[in-house]
Amino acid sequence: MISYEEAQACIHRNLPSTRVIQRRVAEAAGFALARDVEAQDALPLFASSAMDGYALRSRDVRRANETRPVVLPVSGVAQPGDTALRLSPRSAVRILTGAMLPTGADAVIMQEHVQCNGATLQCAGPVAAGENVRARGEEYREGDRVFARGTLITPAVAGMLATLGYSRVHVRARPRVALVVTGNELRMPEDRLRPGQIRDANSVSLQSALRCMGIEPTMLRAQDDAEEVYALLRTALRRHDCVITSGGISVGDHDYVRGAFARLRVQEHFWRVAIKPGKPVYFGTRGQRMVFGLPGNPVSALLALYLFVRPALARCAGVPVPPSWLQSARLEGDIRKRAGREEFLRVRLESDAGELPRVHPMRGQGSHMLGGLATADALLQLPAGSEGMAHGSIVEVERMQWSLL
Ligand code: AMP
Ligand code: MG
Repeated sequence: MISYEEAQACIHRNLPSTRVIQRRVAEAAGFALARDVEAQDALPLFASSAMDGYALRSRDVRRANETRPVVLPVSGVAQPGDTALRLSPRSAVRILTGAMLPTGADAVIMQEHVQCNGATLQCAGPVAAGENVRARGEEYREGDRVFARGTLITPAVAGMLATLGYSRVHVRARPRVALVVTGNELRMPEDRLRPGQIRDANSVSLQSALRCMGIEPTMLRAQDDAEEVYALLRTALRRHDCVITSGGISVGDHDYVRGAFARLRVQEHFWRVAIKPGKPVYFGTRGQRMVFGLPGNPVSALLALYLFVRPALARCAGVPVPPSWLQSARLEGDIRKRAGREEFLRVRLESDAGELPRVHPMRGQGSHMLGGLATADALLQLPAGSEGMAHGSIVEVERMQWSLL
């Protein structure tokens, strides 16, 4: 059995490379750029007004002051979207924010600083050349590198790509994922349960987690039957970059997943990890395919997806794994633990303004008790060697974040 850190490093070493695809910019948030992006032109493309006011030549009002204001005729109106007007010397043009600066003008005077009766303008002070003007190319010059490849496309990046004239961009593809859920005892939420049957939680929780990452998995279900599991996994491996299984990976009599992977010549990198919950986690690769076998217990399955699969899929998609939000808090009550495995306790945070939040471990810490995870809002990680923690200890907890943005 390997440690949590070893398991992470092992996955990291064995990540396959990913495809590059084109995506519409409007649908690319959350993806990572696969190529550098350059400004195809100067930005802004033309000089324009930063204010509603009057465009003029600064030298025409150089001597203006309170006692001797300069009076200029207003010769036209410049609206955003219009082509540039021509400004004659010793005149002004009414201009609105974003309109092209008239040729001949070099400044805009704010309307609050002048008096205008429609036909003429009275300036009671000078204005510096370039004032209230957005200069051509002041943000980027043609050919400037605006984004390096690997940049995560946030809403602002997407808007910027549109500004630069890109409607499609090259991004790293999300891995194609198949989710294979095993278990004879599993029924759909809407089904009547016969004695001994339970509802299938993992199909829904794992699918939801993947969707939060922008991945729509192919859902497959198998009975606990060696041939059925094998056939389904063979198909799944053919069409997907990553196959994730739920259940059937432990040492039970009907746990056929690991054997099926072996028959399919998947190279096993590890099978069990010294963590709680989630010990029976399998990781393997076949060529450019990744395979994760998650335990069946609902808490173990979802946490194993969070701890191992999510970072792996994010890295494959070129997206930096979003830092989980760590927070210091004070432990309420004692925690006892056996040394050996790294533990991820489900905890609830309680905050009073101005005080360190308090951490309450959830009552249901069993790996089958999904309610304990569902009502928790953070994880408390206890190192393998730890034998517990005393009431009042200051701890760091991690809020689980599923989305990649
Ligand atoms: P397994 O790893 O297949 O032995 O499953 C371990 C435990 O998790 C058993 O109690 C299963 O009934 C339960 N389990 C397995 N798969 C699911 C699932 N999809 N939803 C809810 N419970 C499950
Ligand atoms: Mg099972």
